[in-house]
Amino acid sequence: MSNRRKIYEGKAKTLYEGPQPGTLIQHFKDDATAGNGKKHEIIDGKGVLNNRISEYIFSNLNRLGIQTHFIRRLNMREQLIKEVEIIPLEIIVRNFAAGSLVKRLGLEHGTRLPRSIIEFCYKDDDLGDPLVSEEHITAFGWASPAELDDIMSIAVRVNDFLVGLFMGVGIQLVDFKIEVGRHFEGDLMRIIVADEISPDSCRLWDIKTNRKLDKDLFREGSEGMIDAYREVAQRLGILNETENALSTGPRLVT
Ligand code: UDP
Repeated sequence: MSNRRKIYEGKAKTLYEGPQPGTLIQHFKDDATAGNGKKHEIIDGKGVLNNRISEYIFSNLNRLGIQTHFIRRLNMREQLIKEVEIIPLEIIVRNFAAGSLVKRLGLEHGTRLPRSIIEFCYKDDDLGDPLVSEEHITAFGWASPAELDDIMSIAVRVNDFLVGLFMGVGIQLVDFKIEVGRHFEGDLMRIIVADEISPDSCRLWDIKTNRKLDKDLFREGSEGMIDAYREVAQRLGILNETENALSTGPRLVT
């Protein structure tokens, strides 16, 4: 086992000290949780798939000039990332009605929204990540008005990219969550995308059949979550058709 310093352990990922100052190692675990941690299972291979899917998305965002914390993948479960000061918000972008929006506003599940909608939740497990407004965010100093403008423009750009990416492989991007942080380079501070983007943090439906290909399968107690994640990776061209990407076995494309 390694003796590196653990910085933070979350529900699905662990952060370790990185090899250079200003870097961290993000380790993807196989743990799946729902209902604020009430439901918890180990899904063999999930961490490997999310590491690869998130790598693919973040490297594309970097290439497009939408800066993220991702530097490079280190191995099956780990990536080297830039250290950021996390802004305590979950930024949710919605294209179709699902999940908590349906419950809150009584919309029909799957309705296309008149336009993409951005929502913010305050990251606090004890409070159950409550929905907050821009007023709360600026009044409590979680982000300044200028930072909030940046965050909203990043969220829109990430949505535009992801909608097209998934559309190209026959998947509807219903909604997703991102987290962002402040990255300091000398005197310069920039907001960049952090955490992960994977089927754990997106709702993804097959365009033709509306079949779910995301973490809702786990939330609802349905079978086939890992097969769905593998299908997303295969459609994106990250895995070969025949690969099965479990936690062991050197079968991933590099
Ligand atoms: N989401 C997430 N982490 C959270 C809450 C939500 O990744 O702690 C994602 C979720 O997978 C979905 C989107 O954010 O893609 C919107 O979730 P929603 O607010 O509908 O909450 P949920 O119904 O998942 O509780």
